[in-house]
Amino acid sequence: MKYPETKPPVFTLTAGPVDAYPEVLRALGTTVLYDYDPAFQAFFEDLTLKAQEALGCDLPPLILQGEPVLALEGAAASLIARDDVVLNLASGVYGKGFGYWAARYAKKVEEIEVPYNTAIDPEQVRAFLKEHPEVKIVCVCNHDTPSGTLNDIDAIGAVVAEAGALLLVDAVSSWAGMPTSPTSSQAAIYVTGPNKCLGCPPSLSLVAVSEAAWAKIEANPDAPFASMLSFTDWKNAWKKTEPFPFTPSVAELNGLSAALDRYLEEGPEAVWKRHAVTAKVCREGIKAMGIDLWPVSEDIASPTATAVKMPDGIDAGPVLAEARARYGISMSAGRAETLGKLIRIGHMGPTAQPAYALLAVAAMGGALKALGAKVDVAAGLAAAQAAWDAAIEE
Ligand SMILES: *Cc1c(COP(=O)(O)O)cnc(C)c1O
Repeated sequence: MKYPETKPPVFTLTAGPVDAYPEVLRALGTTVLYDYDPAFQAFFEDLTLKAQEALGCDLPPLILQGEPVLALEGAAASLIARDDVVLNLASGVYGKGFGYWAARYAKKVEEIEVPYNTAIDPEQVRAFLKEHPEVKIVCVCNHDTPSGTLNDIDAIGAVVAEAGALLLVDAVSSWAGMPTSPTSSQAAIYVTGPNKCLGCPPSLSLVAVSEAAWAKIEANPDAPFASMLSFTDWKNAWKKTEPFPFTPSVAELNGLSAALDRYLEEGPEAVWKRHAVTAKVCREGIKAMGIDLWPVSEDIASPTATAVKMPDGIDAGPVLAEARARYGISMSAGRAETLGKLIRIGHMGPTAQPAYALLAVAAMGGALKALGAKVDVAAGLAAAQAAWDAAIEE
């Protein structure tokens, strides 16, 4: 008997939106305070400082009232002036997409684009910046989620700093799931959100803005204000003595607060380890079944999602549908250029647990087998469990 499509899945092992932590779901259901109540104003100040601690940034971060696409578009609008030349680094769908926003505000957008199963080479960025000293802003995606691949933003950040340009990072699906931060990447603007590795529903953005970026935004005559895209509007709103530009998303902020408490209490290093072990268990299982990973090398595979390449002649769509119908397990499709070619298993927040990796291997293997692919599911499960045991005994 197949699992009914009309019922929610038994397990959601997607690469975003992800299942939220129970603590977060409980917090979302708590009292919605009036935003100008002194208790709420004090809560918002504390929450911002807690987010600063978690991000490890020098200034209090912005908490914007929409999922991270708002912050990415807002970053482009706020930072990029009409006479700026921007270098966009594209190794996947999100990196490529940022270039379209940049083009809306910049004089010119240059681009380095590489195949979507590879990563940006920092040396290529260095050589490009040497030849193009007019570049003022460089944009990069840390984990390009539709490919499951990582760019080394710390190395890229060092190259960009050396050239005297500003770095804008999309770290939405990496931050809080692996060692990555605004300071280690020397980012001028570092955009992330609570809806991936922090285990919240999609709703808010977190943005670390450096001193240099604020100076650039304040000097940009085109930077938006009195707008949902404005960074300036929210710059001082974290202080309990300052007004809000408009009503904050009270319920989602309650959820974010619980997620940050959880993250800081478990300890960032323990959380990152949990993501890394889950990814390792999953990959050992997939490879042992006789199926390839999407990234050209495991060195650039993100610990927060595993992208699995579909065998020749098999489209991802029916495999996803089979896993959902047969086992009640939901996984992510690719997007745009990677659609149909791969399936993504998320290891984010509550699903960054090795037990879920075994479920994913079983669902992926069983669905592929049902569709006629040559897979050794038993070998995959044995290898996954062996990797899990090895991590326990480490
Ligand atoms: C999830 C995500 C975002 C947010 O965008 P949505 O497509 O609206 O979820 C931005 N950047 C990256 C890399 C993401 O993974």
